[in-house]
Amino acid sequence: MPSTAAKEEAPKVKERPFVLDGIFTRLTALPGIGPRSGSLMAKLVGGDKILDVLWHKPIDFIDRRFTPSVKDAPNGQICTLTITVDKHNVPPKRSMPYRVLCHDDTGPIDLVFFNANKDWVSKQLPLGAEVVVSGKVEYYRGKPQIVHPDAIGSVEDRKSIETVEPIYPLTQGITNKLLRKAVLAALPRLPELPEWLDPAYKERQRFLSWHNTLDKLHNPVNTNDLSPESSVRMRLAYDEFLANQLALAMVRYHQRRRQGRSYKTGGEMRRKLLEALPFELTGAQQRSIAEIDKDMEDPSKMLRMLQGDVGAGKTVVAALAMLNAIESGAQAAIMAPTEILARQHAESMKPLLDACGVRFVTLTGRDKGKQRETLLQQIRNGAAQIVIGTHALFQDGVEFDDLGLAVIDEQHRFGVHQRLMLAAKGKGVDVLVMTATPIPRTLTLTAYGDMEVSKLDEKPPGRKPIDTRLISHEHVQQMIEGLERKIAEGERVYWVCPLVEESEFMDVAAAQERFEILQAKFGDKVGLVHGRLKPEEKDETMAKFANGDIDILVATTVIEVGVNVPEATIMVIEHAERFGLSQLHQLRGRVGRGGDQSYCFLVYPKRLTETAKERLNIMRATEDGFKIAERDLELRGAGEILGTRQSGMPEFRLAELPAHSELLAAARDDAKLIMDKDPKLESERGKALRTLLYLFERDQAIQYLLSG
Ligand code: ADP
Ligand code: MG
Repeated sequence: MPSTAAKEEAPKVKERPFVLDGIFTRLTALPGIGPRSGSLMAKLVGGDKILDVLWHKPIDFIDRRFTPSVKDAPNGQICTLTITVDKHNVPPKRSMPYRVLCHDDTGPIDLVFFNANKDWVSKQLPLGAEVVVSGKVEYYRGKPQIVHPDAIGSVEDRKSIETVEPIYPLTQGITNKLLRKAVLAALPRLPELPEWLDPAYKERQRFLSWHNTLDKLHNPVNTNDLSPESSVRMRLAYDEFLANQLALAMVRYHQRRRQGRSYKTGGEMRRKLLEALPFELTGAQQRSIAEIDKDMEDPSKMLRMLQGDVGAGKTVVAALAMLNAIESGAQAAIMAPTEILARQHAESMKPLLDACGVRFVTLTGRDKGKQRETLLQQIRNGAAQIVIGTHALFQDGVEFDDLGLAVIDEQHRFGVHQRLMLAAKGKGVDVLVMTATPIPRTLTLTAYGDMEVSKLDEKPPGRKPIDTRLISHEHVQQMIEGLERKIAEGERVYWVCPLVEESEFMDVAAAQERFEILQAKFGDKVGLVHGRLKPEEKDETMAKFANGDIDILVATTVIEVGVNVPEATIMVIEHAERFGLSQLHQLRGRVGRGGDQSYCFLVYPKRLTETAKERLNIMRATEDGFKIAERDLELRGAGEILGTRQSGMPEFRLAELPAHSELLAAARDDAKLIMDKDPKLESERGKALRTLLYLFERDQAIQYLLSG
């Protein structure tokens, strides 16, 4: 799911085609769904519209079409039987089993209920009546029985009982019965939509119409129907990819078309900054800044990604790019995903910016009242040439005098939409996106379309490889003794305690416990940061760690990916198996920044599956972020690749990566062709594609269509 911020701020769509109204209605409109079950269900299916229920894919099914005679009903199998009710054995106590004796021509069978409501049972199974029941047949003391039949009905109900019943992913409070009922009530609301697929492609893939596809999705009859390779699932995945790729292509098309501006590059400020740098730029940094210069000189808008592994030196490249804008009289902004990162950027850029006399301010959500007013004024009147901040930057009320360049750090945390919001704060704003996450090609495509990429594929000189070791939890004590020696030699340690399930509370408790254990040994040389602290408290502890007042920083994952403390040489990660590999790679990248030998200890519990072990071994085998990300994708699938749910990478609900990656490539090509032939979506197929965009709520793309 996209970050909530992105969701709340998504522009509202007005001109949705009426034909979609039925499935865009809230799901509480379905029979049997009240406010409470509605909100539980919305959470489960990932949205509160009727369409969201229809997009909830079954994971299994129960086949009730097997209708043997009682004698032939096999032990342990789901059967639908037609039987006559002979006798009710009402137990003396409700806690004892309630048996209903029945038979057919071939033999007797019992229906058994525990904790049964007597009235209900006798009403369902009237004496002497012929009934249809379905459930798992079991043999008990040589006699067949069904405990709590899944379905009971009269002979007239047979048709509705003898079906294949899909099984859905569920949650507390939502039974399969309720969900199925919702699906069955929702299916008739499915409209016939104009076909947006290319007819030849549709034919080649043997795809059904969209309407029939969804219908079939909810009526699986064999296991093939549940596999990602089924034509039903492939069509749904393709539709989703196509909406995604088309929206990206449109955003890009419109950004390109809109006039950008031309900036002078390589001026006096740059000379001063380079002079102030204590190092030479690497070849990769020089190449990247040259590519950025070229884009910025060009009057069309820049949309470029600077991709570089942690520690590759993106910050200085960003600073140089921002100087281009400033020397041409415009402002530049850099947006980081978190408070800590924004402050860190400000801190590491300060000496560079001071050296060339640039005035900058830092604006985050923490700035309130008078102080915020002052900052806003400086941004509005141009006194601030560079603004460093968090997403607070694109909120209403933040006005720039003349924003020329927006740099967005750690982009995968932001939605495409947020990026556009910042760019909308100026006219023809150039955009530079920086990402430390080495995103595999398939995923880059889904998140950015075909953005230009500059790669920092060369690390600054003098870095030693990080010595990565797997440590079994039993040996943590020994490791701590080793740390003691290192600390005595003046080295600093990050100690990461991972997220425990989804509970921030447990999470903090684990970190707290570790903190106390370490404190018992190292006293006030240990600090603790976690998500529950006030930002000021966090900052204070981080600052103490950065300047050496404390030697060990125990943290939940709040030590965000960009924090830079070159003196830190040791990274300990507890329960390393719970992290995504890319996340481990990011964390490990926090050390190995100075010239000293650095270490990364991945602590794992006693019981570890083979796959988990294999994953951790990849970390030991390589420091190449791309290799790690590709392997992670193979082993875990795309949804988890970035390790965190709030990653902001589009999560597909219908498509499954990597199983559907070929479809993604096809959708990209398709989208390209569409934009070449019919960029305004005016042809017959174009109009159908508009419906597709509405269906998947690609609001930004739709806005472009509406504004022409
Ligand atoms: P990241 O790409 O992770 O943002 P940073 O920009 O924070 O990396 O740089 C990491 C460290 O490397 C910083 O301490 C920075 O000063 C240093 N650095 C950057 N470029 C060079 C270079 N060309 N030579 C030596 N050190 C460099
Ligand atoms: Mg950085």
